[in-house]
Amino acid sequence: TAPSSLTVNGHFAPISGEPATEEQHEHGVQVIDEDKQFNPHLSTYLKHKNIIPAGFNYHLISVFGSQSTGKSTLLNHLFGTEFDVMSETARKQTTKGIWMSVNKRDHSDGGAGSEMRKMADNILVMDVEGTDGRERGEDQDFERKSALFALATSEVLIVNIWEHQVGLYQGANMGLLKTVFEVNLQLFLKDKNSTPRSLLFFVIRDHLGTTPLSNLRETLIQDLTRIWTTLSKPKGLENSRIEDYFDFAFSALPHKILQPKNFITEVEKLGTRFREDYRDSKKPGLNDQELDGGVFLPEYHRRIPADGFSVYAEGVWDQIVNNKDLDLPTQQELLAQFRCDEISREVLVAFDEAISPLESQQADGVRLGNPTIIPGLGDVMRESRTNAIKDFETEGSRYHKGVFTRKRTELEGKVDTRLKALSQGQLSAAHKSGVADFTQAVTAAVKFGQKRGGKGGGYDFAEIVEREKGKAVGKFKNESEGLRIVGAPWSKYEQELRLFEKELGEVSARLRGEEMRRLATRVERWVRSRLGESIGLEFNKLGSGRGGSGAPETGEKPATEKDLWDRIWTTFAKTVREAEAIFTERARSFDASPEEVEVGLWRLRRKSWGVLKAKLEEEVMEGNLLLKLRENFEDKFRYDEAGVPRIWRPTDDIEGAYTRARESTLTLIPLLSRFRLSETSAPPPLPEWVGVPPASLSQADEEDLTPIGGVDEDEGKSLEEEMTVLSETKSQDLGVRFKKMADGVYVEAKRSAIGGVAQ
Ligand code: GDP
Ligand code: MG
Repeated sequence: TAPSSLTVNGHFAPISGEPATEEQHEHGVQVIDEDKQFNPHLSTYLKHKNIIPAGFNYHLISVFGSQSTGKSTLLNHLFGTEFDVMSETARKQTTKGIWMSVNKRDHSDGGAGSEMRKMADNILVMDVEGTDGRERGEDQDFERKSALFALATSEVLIVNIWEHQVGLYQGANMGLLKTVFEVNLQLFLKDKNSTPRSLLFFVIRDHLGTTPLSNLRETLIQDLTRIWTTLSKPKGLENSRIEDYFDFAFSALPHKILQPKNFITEVEKLGTRFREDYRDSKKPGLNDQELDGGVFLPEYHRRIPADGFSVYAEGVWDQIVNNKDLDLPTQQELLAQFRCDEISREVLVAFDEAISPLESQQADGVRLGNPTIIPGLGDVMRESRTNAIKDFETEGSRYHKGVFTRKRTELEGKVDTRLKALSQGQLSAAHKSGVADFTQAVTAAVKFGQKRGGKGGGYDFAEIVEREKGKAVGKFKNESEGLRIVGAPWSKYEQELRLFEKELGEVSARLRGEEMRRLATRVERWVRSRLGESIGLEFNKLGSGRGGSGAPETGEKPATEKDLWDRIWTTFAKTVREAEAIFTERARSFDASPEEVEVGLWRLRRKSWGVLKAKLEEEVMEGNLLLKLRENFEDKFRYDEAGVPRIWRPTDDIEGAYTRARESTLTLIPLLSRFRLSETSAPPPLPEWVGVPPASLSQADEEDLTPIGGVDEDEGKSLEEEMTVLSETKSQDLGVRFKKMADGVYVEAKRSAIGGVAQ
């Protein structure tokens, strides 16, 4: 048998193996070889000839007829093709299988002064192997199969016939036509809905001119009708008429060898009919008298987009060759699936190019623990999505509608899955950085406010939080709005916004906790300074034996000494109450909860007690207290009731005065050693005053607290101990030191009395 490649006019055009080069395609392509193999590279040819992007703007013509009736010759003249032509000397079959070529001419000459007429775009011509079908069974099979193939794909079927064959009903041509009609019925049995029509264009060759074309046409029509009636028709189509499926057109050409000039002119005229402007002339058909109409009616078109033609043709041929019932609607659906998948893959390549780098950028960010916000992501997403879907629609919409719609949904699904993940990643990055920015902004604003200082810390915490929250939410909304894709219902981000706001709330609560601590510290500081002053003042009063620098008093003991602790307790309680009011007001101003305030106040009372204790300890430090006692004693000893300094004379009862003053001052030591209220002689009600720990007290709230005896029972320290200002030993020691000091003063007084006399 023949090799898998053939030579056309000396040009190599392989059917299997590598696709042919553009140059090898110069003279056409073999669609089906003599072994009934379909050329898998047909699409390469269509690509080389730039047919693929034509959509529906292309036409397919097949030529039929007995072997060596000048078919190839006719096509080459009409369309400038270079199909193999039998040499005039060596008579043998040349065309094997089915060949295809594009029309190489733009215009055809209408002749007789009429101008050149534009031919239709992208005409594809198929030269079908002619046989004398009578002779071999094998050939008859091929003839039938190629007729079916041509019918399934072509809009116009040129039937090439000698004039002297017209009317020869038994002739080979009529056998071929019978085949065409039969396969046509078989073909459209399955496709009742669309029943595309075809044009049978009879070209009568070697027309002598003696019999007018109209007569020849009549004869042919009679013959065709006869064939149609004798045809055994499938069930349901018994009453169908030939006109239901075919239109007819006729043309006659003079003898090419005997009248070469006329032949050329007439072929040129015939060429003008391969155009689309059928509207300006009558539709070609049984009653067409004009013989001038354009042949490409839209209803002849098989509606297979050019980019799917090779796949479709191969599928059709596969069905035919395997003797399966040719089911064109199914073929068209299969084609649609195949092509839509292919187109989908193509558009996804471009989509991928735009989106993949962004996906990796995002993944890298997440991997490094630093999610990135990709600037302009929304624009890229929208553009990529629109392009993908638009490109898909441009090509895919030419295919079976149901399949196309389904595949578009699939494509949208694929695209959207990725875009959704991308936008989620973007928003999670925006979330993370938004929370971080918010925390940082609030902290910075507080710090700035603190530096500025002033009443209440110099800033409004609640206002800072509100302002920064507004900014953060605005920014997040902006980002999510930027990611919105119109027409994509999934592209909504309310939930993400809610999560973001929720976390801002949590962060605010944490920051507010910190702010509460800062407030507590500030209020404590205030308490310390107030107590430092007022308690210091109370102790200073001890220096005066007569209760301050006022008028002289009567009675054994000045009220100031006896009421010392009452006044300290009162001052302390009042100061802390003021501090509590300040704390409450400030905490409320930044929305602290009642529980938080309660905890804060409880802590404040305890801490304030600690402050007071520290102040008391400072006051009773050995040196300090001794000094106070000395002052107290000297005040009583050296000044008289009117506050006038005494000048001791030897006659004065120095010893008596000394003893009284000393004993009076000594009573201060036990008084000072214990914090007791004068009325009850009991410690102040510190446990009740501090109160029980609030229910919402947290571990952290308790951690930095110093235990208080009598308040924190499990500390094993009693309230008595808590209220002990001076221990027993310290008191005794203080008494001894004081007495020594007083003795010194007494001796000095004695001396000065004697010395004063001596003077
Ligand atoms: P095909 O087998 O139908 O393609 O026929 P070809 O185009 O190869 O031509 C077969 C032979 O017929 C060649 O020798 C041609 O020169 C000859 N031929 C071509 N056109 C005509 C014609 O119009 N009239 C006659 N009588 N012979 C022709
Ligand atoms: Mg030929």
